[in-house]
Amino acid sequence: MRYNRVLLKISGEALAGVKGFGIDPEVVLNIAKQIKDAHKKGVEMAVVCGGGNIWRGKTGADMGMERASADYMGMLATIMNGLALQNALESIGVDTRCMTAIEMKEVAEPYIRRRAVRHLEKGRIVIFAGGTGSPYFTTDTTAALRAAEINADVILMAKNGVDGVYSADPKIDPKATKYDRLTYLDVLNKDLKIMDQTAITLCKDNDIDLSVFNMQQEGNIALACENKVNGTIISK
Ligand code: UDP
Repeated sequence: MRYNRVLLKISGEALAGVKGFGIDPEVVLNIAKQIKDAHKKGVEMAVVCGGGNIWRGKTGADMGMERASADYMGMLATIMNGLALQNALESIGVDTRCMTAIEMKEVAEPYIRRRAVRHLEKGRIVIFAGGTGSPYFTTDTTAALRAAEINADVILMAKNGVDGVYSADPKIDPKATKYDRLTYLDVLNKDLKIMDQTAITLCKDNDIDLSVFNMQQEGNIALACENKVNGTIISK
């Protein structure tokens, strides 16, 4: 079964490559190629980029900055990532639109829900940058919010090296086991750290499935679009 409309969440970290910081154009191009292959399967696809490879609001707040200002810097970081991804996708012939939650119309389109849906219907990949546009949120919450707004069938949570949700951290606990399926109630009761609580609650309340998988394995984004990836599915 192939999904019709998906929302892909890519963390900022995934764009940084081995340096662990900033944007590695080669890594971004590789992700873009995976996205292109997945898109060719005939799914409508929107992407939310994180910004943690450049700046996280909490880091600034921990250093004494006002949280809201630090968070706006984080949102700007997600826009830099969005533009890098758009550039990589366009370099391989994929039609894209980058939409920002904070208006910056010389750089990208402002986010307008109906326009975003129209782009998807026309087969364009839409990149949602700038998070929700409000401080105190994360890009995981952005993914849940935008998925609800555009009526996505699923959020594809592409992870960097982790192939699903485990009972404990597999790097620390050798007895950790991977879950194939979970409900949102399981996630809340077991306090599993997949997304922040706001994002999980939004997904649960709006009945949005979540597919967690390892993006570093070539071809997994396409498999996830077909609901065939070896990861963890979370649903109601
Ligand atoms: N951010 C925000 N509001 C949002 C989304 C993001 O304030 O709606 C800020 C926040 O400071 C966050 C930063 O942008 O730390 C980068 O996003 P996130 O940490 O979610 O990126 P990721 O961990 O996915 O790379």
